[in-house]
Amino acid sequence: MHNAFFEIRKPVNEPIFTYAKGTPQREELTRKLAEMKKDTLEIPCIIGGKEIKTGNMGQCVEPHNKSNILANYHIAGPGEIKMAIDAALCAKREWENMPWEHRVAIFLKAAQLISTKYRMTLNAATMLGQSKNAYQAEIDSACELIDFLRFNAYFLSEIYKEQPLSVPEHWNRVEYRALEGFVAAVTPFNFTAIAGNLNASPAICGNTLVWKPSSTSVYSNYFVMRIFQEAGLPAGVINFVPSKGVEFGEIVFRHPELAGIHFTGSTQVFKTMWKTLGENIENSKYYPRLVGETGGKDFVFAHKSADVTALATALICGSFEYQGQKCSAASRAYIPRSIWPEVEAKLKDSVAKIKVGDVSDFTNLVNAVIDANAFNSIKSYIEHAKASSDAEVIIGGGCNDSKGYFVEPTVIVAKKHDYKTMLEEIFGPVLTVFVYDDKDYEETLAICAGSCSYALTGAIFSQDRNEISRMERALVDAAGNFYINDKPTGAVVGQQPFGGARGSGTNDKAGSKLNLYRWISARSMKETFNPPVSFEYPFMK
Ligand code: NAD
Repeated sequence: MHNAFFEIRKPVNEPIFTYAKGTPQREELTRKLAEMKKDTLEIPCIIGGKEIKTGNMGQCVEPHNKSNILANYHIAGPGEIKMAIDAALCAKREWENMPWEHRVAIFLKAAQLISTKYRMTLNAATMLGQSKNAYQAEIDSACELIDFLRFNAYFLSEIYKEQPLSVPEHWNRVEYRALEGFVAAVTPFNFTAIAGNLNASPAICGNTLVWKPSSTSVYSNYFVMRIFQEAGLPAGVINFVPSKGVEFGEIVFRHPELAGIHFTGSTQVFKTMWKTLGENIENSKYYPRLVGETGGKDFVFAHKSADVTALATALICGSFEYQGQKCSAASRAYIPRSIWPEVEAKLKDSVAKIKVGDVSDFTNLVNAVIDANAFNSIKSYIEHAKASSDAEVIIGGGCNDSKGYFVEPTVIVAKKHDYKTMLEEIFGPVLTVFVYDDKDYEETLAICAGSCSYALTGAIFSQDRNEISRMERALVDAAGNFYINDKPTGAVVGQQPFGGARGSGTNDKAGSKLNLYRWISARSMKETFNPPVSFEYPFMK
C-alpha cells in the first residue's frame, strides 16, 4: 500500500578530501591513476540499456600526455541517434509513473556509490581525461556531482509538497508531471558534475533523455553513465550517444517529440540550437524548454580600499585553477592605479611559484588545456596581445604542445578597456587587467557593468562598506553569481545556485529548485464535492 508522505532531509555538502601528502586518499588515488592510464577502454554507446558498437571510432587521450590513449569510443551516427530517441520515448511512460520515491532512490544511491565505491575511479578518470589536478577533480566529479544528486532529490520533494489553496466545497491539487516527449542533454567537457547533472535533473523529475557528451570528456562521462545504471536506472531513461554535434543537432533538434534541451557549453553553440528550434517550431509538438548555461567573461573589480593580498590571491586562483577552463574563471580585472604596483608584484611572485605539468605529479597546480583546438585558440589570443600596441603580456605567455597542451598562466595588461581580450571569452589561463586612474572609478565601474555581452560571474574587492554597497548596485545585471571579497569561481550546490544572464545563459540556476521547475509541467486539479445543479445565478432572479 502506497500511503505515506516520504521525507528527504536537507543534505549537507559532501566533505572534500584534501589529498595532502600522507593521506590514505592520496595513496588510493595515485594507485588508481597508475592503473587506469595503463588500460585502453572500449566505450560503446548505451541505448535502451544495451551496448551498441558502431565501429566508427573516436579517441580519449590525456591532454597533458596526448600520446596516451585512455579509450576508444564508438561514435553514434544518425541511426543510433534515432534509436536513442525511440528508446527514450519507449521508456517514458513507465519511468514517469514510477512512484517518485523510487526514482529519487536511484539518484541517492548513485550519489552514495560516487561518495564511496567509485570516488577514486571517477576522480582519476576526470584527472586523466580532462587534465584536472586531484583537488579540482575532487570538487567536481566527486563532491559537486554527489551534491547535485542529493540536493535535486531534496528540492524535488520540496516542490512536490507545494499545493494550492482549497475551500470546503472543493479540493485543489497540483501534480508535477514530467514533460511530454524526450529531453536532450548536451554536455560540456569541463565539469564531470555538470555532465551528470544535465541528465540527472530532468530524469529525477520523470523525463527520459538522449545524452550527447562532449568528445573530450567521453571517458569520465562513460563512468557516470555506468554508475547510474548500477544504481538501478532503468533501460532507456538516459541514452548515452557520443556523436558529432551537428549530426546530433540535425536529428534531435528537429524532432517533433523534443520536449527540452538541457545544455551547458559555449554561447554560439546555444544560439545555433535556438535558431534550429525556432526554424522547426511548426513541426514541433511542444514549445521545447531551452535551458542553457553558456559562456562568460568574468570580472574582478577592485576599489582602492581593497585588501591587496586577498585580491591578488583571488586573481591567481580565479584565473588559473583548472587552466582558466571554468565558465566562472576570472578573465578581466579592473584595478586602480594606486594599488596596481603592489598587486602586480604579488601576481608575479605567485605565478613564479606555480608549477605546470602532468596531473600525476601532485605538485602541479596547473595542467594542460583540453585539446589542440583550445590550445591554438588560446595561443592566438596571446600572440595577438604580444603583437598589439594596445596590450602587453607581463606574465607568462609561453605555449608548448610537444607532449601535452600546456599554456603558462598569463597576464595581459590592456591599455584600452575594450581591448579584444577584455571582451572575448578565451577559456584558458589568461587574465587581462585594465589599470584605471583612481579618479575614473565611477566611469570604470559603469564600463565593467555594461561593456560585456556576458553576465555570468563577477567579484568586487573593497574594505569600505559604502563602496561595497555602491558596487553591488552598479553591477546588478553584470553577473548572475556575484562575490564580495572572494574569487568568482567555486560555486557550491545548495549554497550559491549557479547561472548567468545576457550571453551567459537562461539563468536557470543549476543546483537549485529553480532548475527543476524547468523539467516539470504542473497539472492543476479541482474536485467539487457538491456540484451545482442549476444554471440560474442569484443575480438573474
Ligand atoms: P561547446 O559549446 O564547444 O560544446 C558543448 C557541447 O555542445 C559539446 O557536447 C559539443 O559537442 C556540443 N556541440 C557543439 N556544437 C554543436 C552543435 N552544432 N549542435 C549540437 N551540439 C553541439 O563547449 P565546451 O568547449 O564543451 O565547454 C566550454 C564552454 O562552456 C565555455 O564557453 C564555458 O563558458 C561554457 N560553460 C558554461 C557554464 C555555465 O554554467 N554557464 C559551465 C561550464 C561551461
